[in-house]
Amino acid sequence: MKIYNTLTRRKEDFVPIQEGKVGIYVCGPTVYDFIHIGNARPMIVFDTLRRYLEHKGYEVNFVSNFTDIDDKIINRSIQEGIPACEVSEKYIAECKKDMEALNVRPASTHPQATQEIPEMIEMVQTLIDKGHAYEKNGTVYFRVRSFDGYGKLSHKNIDDLESGHRADAHALKVSGEDEKEDSLDFVLWKPKKEGEPFWESPWGEGRPGWHLECSCMSKKYVGDTLDIHAGGEDLIFPHHENEIAQSEATNDKPFANYWMHNGFLKINGDKMSKSLGNFFTVRDICAQYDPQVLRFFMLSAQYRTPLNFSRELIEDSAKGLERILNGAEKLSGIIEKDNKKPVSDEEKKILEEELPKFVQKFDEAMDDDLNTADAVSAIFELIRFTNASTDTESSSAFAQALYDTLSELSEKVLGIKLTRAEEAMDDAFVAKIEELIAERTAAKKEKNFARADEIRAELLGMGIVIEDTREGVKWKKA
Ligand code: AMP
Ligand code: ZN
Repeated sequence: MKIYNTLTRRKEDFVPIQEGKVGIYVCGPTVYDFIHIGNARPMIVFDTLRRYLEHKGYEVNFVSNFTDIDDKIINRSIQEGIPACEVSEKYIAECKKDMEALNVRPASTHPQATQEIPEMIEMVQTLIDKGHAYEKNGTVYFRVRSFDGYGKLSHKNIDDLESGHRADAHALKVSGEDEKEDSLDFVLWKPKKEGEPFWESPWGEGRPGWHLECSCMSKKYVGDTLDIHAGGEDLIFPHHENEIAQSEATNDKPFANYWMHNGFLKINGDKMSKSLGNFFTVRDICAQYDPQVLRFFMLSAQYRTPLNFSRELIEDSAKGLERILNGAEKLSGIIEKDNKKPVSDEEKKILEEELPKFVQKFDEAMDDDLNTADAVSAIFELIRFTNASTDTESSSAFAQALYDTLSELSEKVLGIKLTRAEEAMDDAFVAKIEELIAERTAAKKEKNFARADEIRAELLGMGIVIEDTREGVKWKKA
């Protein structure tokens, strides 16, 4: 497989550090609100990378963090009058719901910055001990000029950066960072401000800088050298450049062998972002479309190309997905008939000679720097082919073999399910279910088991089965 490496600006053959295993770290969202569909792009794209590597037989350790302490989270907590950890916990839970809807698998580990503070303090101390960092009035800074190779990822020249920063001397004064030895230096640890969450450290009460979190969590959960580090292209500078400086200065080892960056999701030519206010949340879109449509839309472009979001384009994706689902439905119909016919010679020939061509086309596209756009085209071709080569006379076994291949490529690798999402349940119906469950719980508490059983039967009549679990009552469609 070839991967475009931001570090070398070339497509390179992917060779993992350890044969058969891949360690990936992806920068995750800052959790202070619902995620927007721009944030969903790296989630979907790199989940697909993980799935494809697994399809090729690799064992993948996939780590993606939640940034759960940050100025935006603190501002939100002040606005809402609740602790910062309540804000982050709430939006982590909401983000996980969105991921599930988009069929983004949970990471092997989802570390949270606030749970890893001792490791961060240790890294800062190592950097101070090695002369790569210094403390001034409770703030610890990374000494950028102490690290050779600063700028290698973003291909920036350190002297150009310096002159740019000097022009910003006024901004430095305003931010209170004019005490730095050098305007390039960045914060590893910052002292607390009144009312902010804080942790004890050798440099006083404070909190870690954002860049430090990823260096620490990737080291702990993946290792000193990552096979692949990924994120959106806005993170190349300064975030990823600073991660490299911190990690390589600490570990004296290369930080990541391959750097993958997704292009922006745009709207009317601008990057979709919270600050510009030009965003749709994943929730907004999933209220109008099957969440799979959004996933399919994201994969209809290669991950490095900018992708414009518009109603027409998402409608096109909905139609495209429909063609695939219809094709799969046709195969399912033949499979369900279970006609016990043996696979005919002609069918056998198709399975042996024709079908592999579509798989090969798909794999070639994915091997070429995860070109999901061409991989989706291969699936469309496969659907056209299965439609043309099956009819009411086809054997169920033949249809099953075609379906299995389609499922491997679409469901397993691209994460696009071949079944339609169930119709969303009406809110009033869900409220009624929950009301009945609450009534049943109360009845059981009062030892009115007859009423409790009655309610269970009533729910069953509504097509709902319930189950008593340790976490409470769960329900699902019968
Ligand atoms: P944030 O919560 O801003 O740190 O972003 C979380 C992830 O979403 C990062 O990998 C960002 O690079 C990515 N991201 C944010 N906005 C966009 C966008 N409009 N298009 C693509 N990726 C984005
Ligand atoms: Zn990061």
